[in-house]
Amino acid sequence: MVRGIGTSKGIGMGRALIVDSIVLEVKEEQITDIAAEKERYQEAKHQFICEIEQMIEDLKKRLGKDDKTALILQNQIYLVKDMEMENGINRLIEEKKICAEAAVEQTCEFYITLFASSDNDVMNQRVTDIVDLKTRMTGILMGKEKIDLTQLPADTVIVARELQPSVTALMDTRHVVGIVAEKGGETSHAAILARALEIPAVLSIKGALGQIKTGDFIIVDGEYGEIFINPIPKTIEIYKKKRSIYQKQVQELKKYIDKETVTRDGRRVCLAANIGNAGEAAKAMEAGAECVGLFRTEFLFMNGTSMPTEEEQFEAYKKAAVICKDKVLTIRTLDIGGDKDVPYMGLAKEANPFLGYRAIRFCLGRIDIFTAQLRAILRASAYGNIRIMLPLVTGVNELRAAKTVLHNIMNELDSKNIKYDKDIQIGVMIETPAACMTADMLAQEAAFFSIGTNDLTQYMLAVDRGNENVAYLYSPLHPSVLRAIKRIIECAKEKNIEVGMCGEAAASPAMIPLLLTFGLDEFSVTATKVLETRKNIASWTIKEAAEVTDAVMSMHTEREISDYLQTVLEQKEAVNGTGI
Ligand code: PEP
Ligand code: MG
Repeated sequence: MVRGIGTSKGIGMGRALIVDSIVLEVKEEQITDIAAEKERYQEAKHQFICEIEQMIEDLKKRLGKDDKTALILQNQIYLVKDMEMENGINRLIEEKKICAEAAVEQTCEFYITLFASSDNDVMNQRVTDIVDLKTRMTGILMGKEKIDLTQLPADTVIVARELQPSVTALMDTRHVVGIVAEKGGETSHAAILARALEIPAVLSIKGALGQIKTGDFIIVDGEYGEIFINPIPKTIEIYKKKRSIYQKQVQELKKYIDKETVTRDGRRVCLAANIGNAGEAAKAMEAGAECVGLFRTEFLFMNGTSMPTEEEQFEAYKKAAVICKDKVLTIRTLDIGGDKDVPYMGLAKEANPFLGYRAIRFCLGRIDIFTAQLRAILRASAYGNIRIMLPLVTGVNELRAAKTVLHNIMNELDSKNIKYDKDIQIGVMIETPAACMTADMLAQEAAFFSIGTNDLTQYMLAVDRGNENVAYLYSPLHPSVLRAIKRIIECAKEKNIEVGMCGEAAASPAMIPLLLTFGLDEFSVTATKVLETRKNIASWTIKEAAEVTDAVMSMHTEREISDYLQTVLEQKEAVNGTGI
């Protein structure tokens, strides 16, 4: 098994086809008739635009006319119509008297070198688009056959160094069952297109072309980012079963896209998504989330080699806010420390990192870093519907201190006439026993609560969430954690503030009836869990959920509770087929 990044879910099985032989060798021929060469370039450009427009039309037919994914290809048209690019090509034909294909290649190479030096995702994507344009345009000028991905044997797995958007767009799901590439990530255009076309894809497999030959049998598991090259028959059998279960589930879940999240008897709740970067906001919206309940901003700090500037943060928050439009985007302030180290910050090693200098404690200790982040969030709030959420709060003093910092920044922005949302809400995560026990007090001063069960469970049970030796003790179904959750929701209701949950427990089928009964307003789950959570919620009536909850709350041990809930879910599945 070889691991990469799973960028388009699903399981594909078939024979490999290496499609990396399309690099054309362009010769720099000298020409004499400049006007004729420029005309040849114009004709090729016209053909290029017609071909891309046709691809966009075909894609729209396959994906629906309102689907915006096809517009990814529009970039190619913008690029080829760009006057600077056009002038550059014409100048080379005139001054160096070289053929149009060489002029196209050299001009494209100039832009590729320019953009490739950036480590910014958008610029890297621009490089892929220009490589794609260069390949197609030189192909047209040289009269070369393009690879035709519609004339392939059924069950083909495409293997490439890097997939170009226009190549991916042509893939037909009747022929192509999987994609494997050495380059590309979650947000690359090829990955977005593969997701839209529902072709399982695993990208970023280092050395894939060295390991796979055309004709090898490949299994592509786009969910776990794994591929198997010439697997044994037993593995093929296992994956055939997995594929048929997955296909059934996908069909089932499709019914829940663009639906409200309601129980069977009509109680409406909000289904939100957790995201780790701005790009994931789009994925969350595509997956049918009604808002973002948690944007973990620490990844912005952990993924680089230096602190992101206020400007870089502003751009990321603004991008997510614009994607979410009027839907709520809950931005959690920096939650580092504990198991989240940021090497360039030089944080001291601590004996008990989970009990140490982390999250809101760190931010209140490093007001410079906190101020830059809050200022970036406030500035971005002019572009969407942002709320601010503080992690690891243990009492009202921390909320008050954060509000003071926020108000100082608001005054400064006012004095400079910088726009922001003056009514921005500031809420807290309830993830410590201290916050749980003072939830009645916090509810008087916070605009909303979000229950972080990942940490709440660890602190409530004194069980390190990452230590496998004590993992058997870690369960949000422990009576203490359930009582804590019930209390937190009651305190929020008492003061009429919204209460959500953004820990993993919000997506747990066993937990859903309990959370519905306690009155949770918002379930915030990873984007891939949105539809199954909506389906699970829809399978309960409040009465049924309350009966289960009554039984659970009378039990004394985690074991008793989890066994009972498992039986309830199994019976439910047997009756309704509600299992995911
Ligand atoms: C939590 O603790 O439940 C939570 C959502 O935060 P994180 O997992 O990032 O600590
Ligand atoms: Mg947490």
